Amino acid sequence: MSRFFSAKFDRLIPYVPGEQPKGKNVFIKLNTNESPFPPSPKAQKYAAEAIEKTMLYSDPECFRLRAALADRYGVDADNVICGNGSDDILNFAFSAFCDEKTPAVFADITYGFYRVFAEYNRVPYRIIPLKDDFTIDPADYFNAEGTVFIANPNAPTGIALPVGEIEEIIKNNPENIVVIDEAYVDFGAVSCVPLTKKYDNLVVTETFSKSRSLAGARLGFAVANKELITDLNTVRNSTNPYNVNSITQAAGIGSLEDREYTDENCRKIMQTRKQTEIELKKLGFVFTDSSANFIFAAHPDHPGGEIYKALREKGVLIRHFDADRIKDYNRITVGSDEQMEKLIQKLRCII
Ligand code: PMP
Repeated sequence: MSRFFSAKFDRLIPYVPGEQPKGKNVFIKLNTNESPFPPSPKAQKYAAEAIEKTMLYSDPECFRLRAALADRYGVDADNVICGNGSDDILNFAFSAFCDEKTPAVFADITYGFYRVFAEYNRVPYRIIPLKDDFTIDPADYFNAEGTVFIANPNAPTGIALPVGEIEEIIKNNPENIVVIDEAYVDFGAVSCVPLTKKYDNLVVTETFSKSRSLAGARLGFAVANKELITDLNTVRNSTNPYNVNSITQAAGIGSLEDREYTDENCRKIMQTRKQTEIELKKLGFVFTDSSANFIFAAHPDHPGGEIYKALREKGVLIRHFDADRIKDYNRITVGSDEQMEKLIQKLRCII
């Protein structure tokens, strides 16, 4: 830290993204929940065309992209905001909907960035432990007296809360905002987007990084009632109105036009997840009931950190977290069938 760094950030511990290997080592990369499939053909085509126009600023309103999203999700374009990844929008939400009197409220085991966003925005936060089986007790979030952030499916557990239970949380927080982070919803969970028409205190965030294979393009969006979207836009337009570049906007539109491609890839991932779970079980692993593109697995005879290190030495990257409650586990992204077969081969040697 330099002597000039603002004192307001002197305790800020930044989020640590999963390792992105550099150099000659070729890893099987199962550590950041990326898709093993390339972006859709139309996403690639539209992005290539858009690069020719990058002497111009991108559309700060993301007009065509929001119209395409509105069409896809059965809402109005005024109900949609786009961001530089869904992280961008989650950060806006911490900024717009939390303050000294309105803490952020989230689980002990969930997306690690929530704590960082709270610290960065200098708002208080209250942590609610998950149950022993890593599920959420909806009643823990009733009348939360703060802004609730729930990843559904949760990360890194992959466990999804049924929509009915989320609706109970929303209903029991008439004076609070509930943000549902649906980064992994396309791999077997049910989206709360339709509930945004019924409740004026619900924000749903989604991403193009996982099911739509556009992690590197950085595109996320949120759906909510018009007033909440206006608040998020006030924060966005006060920081970076051009937060989504024009190549990414074009790729997003292309991807939405190729919906069958995305749906087919999600089906493949879910099938591969099932097959990998069968193989992991044969090796003695236990895992949570995942509705995401990753498996959260532990082995009774081998500490999580040991498996992570042994796999790394054998050229496979998975994600290990040090937090006490989950240190026995590893989060393994579901890649292609071929990648998962190699993973299982290496685990067979290790176990
Ligand atoms: N929410 C959750 C639960 C995540 O795991 C991630 C991915 N790290 C994100 C949001 C953010 O994804 P992106 O910014 O790529 O949309």
